[in-house]
Amino acid sequence: MTEIDLHVHTTASDGTCTPREAVRRAAMLGLRAMAVTDHDTVFGRAEAVSAGMDYGIEVVPGIEVSTKYGVSVHILGYYIENLIPLLANVINDRDRRNEQIASLMAADGLPVSYAEMKKRYGKAIGRPHFGRVLMELGLAESVSDAFTRYLGRGQRYFVPRKTLDIDAAVEAIVQSGGVPVLAHPFQYKKNDAELRELIERCMDHGLRGMECRYSGYDAEQVRYLEKLAGEYSLLKTGGSDFHGDNKPHIGLGTGIFGELNVPYAWLEPLKEAAEKLHQSLNNQSPSSSAE
Ligand code: AMP
Ligand code: FE
Ligand code: FE
Ligand code: ZN
Repeated sequence: MTEIDLHVHTTASDGTCTPREAVRRAAMLGLRAMAVTDHDTVFGRAEAVSAGMDYGIEVVPGIEVSTKYGVSVHILGYYIENLIPLLANVINDRDRRNEQIASLMAADGLPVSYAEMKKRYGKAIGRPHFGRVLMELGLAESVSDAFTRYLGRGQRYFVPRKTLDIDAAVEAIVQSGGVPVLAHPFQYKKNDAELRELIERCMDHGLRGMECRYSGYDAEQVRYLEKLAGEYSLLKTGGSDFHGDNKPHIGLGTGIFGELNVPYAWLEPLKEAAEKLHQSLNNQSPSSSAE
């Protein structure tokens, strides 16, 4: 069992627990801190932070930004203060992409309405929500099965969407007060040299940390990532990537096999880095100039 879980999705993106419910569950599990890290949005932050006060658990406001670097690479941003202006484009494009997926499904005679989906699932709709619809229509056994059969790259209902360029994304996170951290480094199928190249490139733009403990990562993988983080003086973070019923095999605060083990001690340096960053951003802002 872990002390903290710094990677959690809510209904603000493609998780199935509301921010309040995720925080409540984390508190019930006895976690000392939990971060909300919804995809490309900070929409769930206020609710999560207020639930944290009610349930007596520290809530870290975060985000997980999808970027492109050959493959899709995810950058977490902790203690983010503001919306990232660049993400407005990404959000609009997601909407366009979703309309197209719904049209493809409707053209096959499936009773799918994107307007209905928005009423039901809120603003931040993604492929996992289409996966749930496909499940309900009896066309898939799970969300993951829906990806394999219909929604994944190369499948019938796959429509690409725009994501931010990786350099711009890391810089935008910093400008919005977030401490940028490379998410789940093994997801990109890179060898040691390629991963180092990715890390170095992101560090040139302000990367400060790396997610070293993650659902499904074994002891050897964790050792490797922690060594790498040490070599580059990157902060270490860890989290489950909980998505509720959209990824039912992943447990909040536990991971897949109960392997998740992230010490509270890792949060202190992250918090300090955020405080320093916020101070330097405040000093830059015109409103703080001497009057
Ligand atoms: P989108 O951003 O709408 O293209 O959807 C991508 C999201 O789908 C990712 O953030 C993942 O959380 C989720 N996802 C990707 N593959 C799967 C899968 N096989 N099963 C469930 N969720 C998935
Ligand atoms: Fe997701
Ligand atoms: Fe991710
Ligand atoms: Zn995630």
